[in-house]
Amino acid sequence: MRLLLATMSHETNTFSPVPTKLARFCRDGTTLLTGQAAIDFYRDTRTCMGGYLEIAAGAGAEVVVPVTASAPPSGRVDAEAYELFCKLITDEVARGGFDGIMLDLHGAMAAEGFDDGEGELLRRIRAIDAKTPLCVAYDMHANVFDNMVRTADIVSGYHTYPHIDMKETAVLAARALLKVIAGKIKPTLAWGAAPMLPHVMSQGTHMFPNKDLQEMCAGWEASGRAVAASLFVGFPHADVPMAGLSAVVVTDNNQADAQAMVDELLAFAWKAREAFTFTVEKLEDSVARAKALGEAGPGVVLLDHFDNCASGGTMDTTDVLREIIHQELDDVVFFGIYDPEAVQQAIAAGIGNDAELTIGAKLEMPALQIGSRPLTVKGKVRTVSAGYYKATGGLTPGLQVFMGNTAVLDTGRVQIVLLSRHIEPTAQEMFRVLGIDPTVKRFVAIKSRVHWRADVGKLAREIVECGGVGVCTSNYGQLTFRNVRRPIYPLDPDMQWAVPKRG
Ligand SMILES: [Zn+2]
Repeated sequence: MRLLLATMSHETNTFSPVPTKLARFCRDGTTLLTGQAAIDFYRDTRTCMGGYLEIAAGAGAEVVVPVTASAPPSGRVDAEAYELFCKLITDEVARGGFDGIMLDLHGAMAAEGFDDGEGELLRRIRAIDAKTPLCVAYDMHANVFDNMVRTADIVSGYHTYPHIDMKETAVLAARALLKVIAGKIKPTLAWGAAPMLPHVMSQGTHMFPNKDLQEMCAGWEASGRAVAASLFVGFPHADVPMAGLSAVVVTDNNQADAQAMVDELLAFAWKAREAFTFTVEKLEDSVARAKALGEAGPGVVLLDHFDNCASGGTMDTTDVLREIIHQELDDVVFFGIYDPEAVQQAIAAGIGNDAELTIGAKLEMPALQIGSRPLTVKGKVRTVSAGYYKATGGLTPGLQVFMGNTAVLDTGRVQIVLLSRHIEPTAQEMFRVLGIDPTVKRFVAIKSRVHWRADVGKLAREIVECGGVGVCTSNYGQLTFRNVRRPIYPLDPDMQWAVPKRG
C-alpha cells in the first residue's frame, strides 16, 4: 500500500498584524520539513502526523510526505507560501500511484486570495484525482466551508480543548480510511453550521456546553453509530463567511442518520448559545482580585487572554504586565512579551547585569481601535536561552520545540520572559528551561486562554481572567466584521434561528 501524508496547518486571525510568511512554517525559521526529515521529526509524537505515521507503519504502507507546514496563528497566509504548500502536495498527487491520501489540516486557514485555504487545496487535489480515498483531520477551531467536507471521504475533528487528542483524531481518521480503501465501509457525510461565534474563553472541554457536545460525538463514535462525529466550535477571530460553529458526521452508508446527528449537535449548541459567550472584568479589578488571592500562597494564574499568541495575538501588548507592576504584585513570572530587539539588548547586557529595557507594543494593530504602549522596565538579566527543548508534557509530548532566543529580566518582583518567537506558555517545562519553577511562584501570568490548562493548569490554585489589549480581544465590539455571514450570534444578539427542516 502507498499513502500520501501531508500537513498544512495555520489558524488565521484576519485581524492580526503578525505576518505569515514562509519562514513562520519552517523549523528554526529556516527549514521547511519535507520527505524523510518530516517523517523523522513527527514519528512518535502525539500529533496528527505522528498518528498518521503510526497507522501507516502498522499497515506496512509506503509513505510519501511532500510537506509538513505548520505555523503559529497570525494574519493571512502569504500567497507565495500558500501556493508553495499546495504545489508540493498537488505535484505529488499528480504523480499518482496512491491508495490513500491522509491530510492534517487546521481548518481555519485564510490565505491571501482565499478565505477557505483548506477547501481550495482540496478542490485542487480533486481536480487532479477525484477518486483516491482521502481523509482529513481538522482542528476543533476549523471554520467549515463546503469544499473542506464534500471533497473528503472521512473528516475527523479533535474532541478536546486544550487539544490533547490530536494523535487520536488522526488515528481515527486513518483507521477509517484504511477501511474505505479495503472496501469495508461506504462513508457518507453530512454537515451543517449554526449561525454563532462561540467565544474562545468559553470553548474549553472542561465546561458546559462544549464538554457535552464533544461527549455526544465521542459516544456515537464509540458505539459505532458514527464512523467519525465532529463538532467544530470554530475560530471567531476570522472575518470570513463561514466563521463559527459547525458539525460534520460520517456514517457507514446512512445519510439520514448522519444528518440527524449533525442536526442534534447544532440544535444543542444553539440552545446553549448564551453559555458560549464571555463577560470581561475590568483590568484593574481583576489584577486587584488576583493580588488578594495571592495572600494565601502560590498558584494564582492570571490570563492575559486578549493577547494569546495561539489565537494570533502579537504577544507584545503590555497592559496586563503594566497593571501587575502598578499594583505591586510580588513573586510573579510573566510569560511573556514578544520583543526580539529587547532579547538582543538583554543578551548584550549579559547574565547577572542590570538592564533598562523598553519592551513591547512594537507591532501596530490597525484592526483595533485601541493600541498598547511600550513599557520601560529595570532589572537584572537572569537567564539567556537559545530556547530548545524536547516536550514531555503539554499538548505535543515528543515534539522538539524551538522557542527562539529568550531572556528573563528580573525586576525584583516580576520575572519577565522576553521572546523572539510567538509561543504560547502551555507547559511547565517552558518555564523550567528558563530556570523558573512555576509551581512555587505566587503569581503565574500568561498570554494564554485555554491551552495552558493541559499542563500549567496543574499548578493553578486560582484563575483570574485579565482583559487587556490585543487582537484576540474578548470584546467583539472592538473589531469590525465585514465578511462573516449575518445575522450571527452574538454580533446580532436578538436573532432567531432553528435547525432547518430536512427532506
Ligand atoms: Zn484549535
